[in-house]
Amino acid sequence: MAPETTAADAVGEREHPDKSPETSDRAREDAQAEGKKKPGQRAEVSNLDIVRHYFDGAVERLGMRDDLRTVFWSPYREVTVQIPVKQADGKTHVYSGYRIQHNGARGPYKGGVRFHPEVDIDEVRALASLMTWKTAVAGVPFGGAKGGINCPANELEASELQSIARSFMDKIEKVLGPTRDIPAPDVNTNAQTMAWFMDEYGKLHGHTPAICTGKPIALEGSHGREAATGRGCVYMFREAAPQLGLSPAETTFAVQGFGNVGSWAARIMQQLGCKMVAVSDANGAIRSDAGIDADELDRFVKSGGKLPDFGDAETIDPEDLVAVECDVFLPAALGGMIHEGNADRMQCKLLIEGANSPTTPTADAILNQNGVYVIPDVMANAGGVVVSYFEWVQNLQHFRWDEREVNDKLGTIMRRAYREVSARAKEEGIPLREAAYLVGIERVFEASRTRGYVS
Ligand code: NAD
Repeated sequence: MAPETTAADAVGEREHPDKSPETSDRAREDAQAEGKKKPGQRAEVSNLDIVRHYFDGAVERLGMRDDLRTVFWSPYREVTVQIPVKQADGKTHVYSGYRIQHNGARGPYKGGVRFHPEVDIDEVRALASLMTWKTAVAGVPFGGAKGGINCPANELEASELQSIARSFMDKIEKVLGPTRDIPAPDVNTNAQTMAWFMDEYGKLHGHTPAICTGKPIALEGSHGREAATGRGCVYMFREAAPQLGLSPAETTFAVQGFGNVGSWAARIMQQLGCKMVAVSDANGAIRSDAGIDADELDRFVKSGGKLPDFGDAETIDPEDLVAVECDVFLPAALGGMIHEGNADRMQCKLLIEGANSPTTPTADAILNQNGVYVIPDVMANAGGVVVSYFEWVQNLQHFRWDEREVNDKLGTIMRRAYREVSARAKEEGIPLREAAYLVGIERVFEASRTRGYVS
């Protein structure tokens, strides 16, 4: 079980703990399977392969029996549905929707729903499994789930997105519920999508705000939820910075993916005094050594501007973003974007994984060998699910906390997760990622054992 630790155990540690020749060797062998990639492209290794690799490493270290490995790897329930939508072109387009409930030993299933043309069942399986370990590492009483629809969200009109969201909810509502499974936003979904989900569910079950989280404030959403994942990443930065000798006023950072997670992380880093020197989104990338104002860029993008057109910055090839000299790199786009083909180009001291599975195992090994301190997705981006937990608690009580209370409680949980995982990493001489998986898997095992599911 995760040991109790103090701040002094974790922060103030000067020696770089994130080096593991064993991991590096194992992952380097996987490079052959991963294949050579051009910089900036997503790796061919799938999100499922990435999560499986880290899961296998952890259960091996824990010495878990083969039968139990199967129990904890395989999802509890997988639902695939057809979503036909009549679009503006007059044709009915058929999309596939997935909801995968991976493990519910620690509480109701919890996980976002993604709208993206590359969504497939394996990606959703990977993300559902990651949620199981993430909720356990954060210590919030949920299991892990994920959903996705393979629609080209960026090309669709709001009315089409609404039809897709409502149709999906109609088809999966039987396996959802405030005590069963609670969706949330992910890539290309947001508070509006959650409002449609809640409304559709309410037609069948009556007003049920706790059916999903990440809702608009006007519909019993929580203060602080929209910013929570980005804010959680910044709490991670604050924990790790002293170890790496970084002071906020001197820190430069780059963000890959200026969406919900990336833009909030950037704005909050900037509030601390850090300087954003490069940023990208699906439209392109820009850099400026003098700094790019994250608040102004956010306003510019939200008012319809394209990121590469933002003034006072040099447009760069998105493939070169990883090579920009900076202290902190924040991947906040899609999975597999840091891979064998570009990991060696990274110049940062600290990588905080805002995105899910942004780093392939081979890239992870390269970064470890190059002395880059990696705070893994399974803890770094847990801020979203932590404030989703707060939203759920508030909804069950029909009571609202103010933003300060939400942010303070988020900070407490993120700091605790960081300190518990980094203490374990130090104890075993392993990187944070391996330690986080050990902590998460042990907690899920313990809940399953005491329920009597496994022995
Ligand atoms: P989002 O849709 O708001 O933002 C995604 C951003 O990535 C957009 O700006 C998009 O333009 C950009 N992008 C897409 N392809 C890109 C590319 N090839 N290069 C650079 N940028 C690209 O999504 P989000 O909610 O911010 O999620 C981002 C990541 O964070 C995902 O991996 C998601 O699973 C993860 N995450 C999100 C939350 C949350 O609360 N929203 C919680 C945990 C993890």
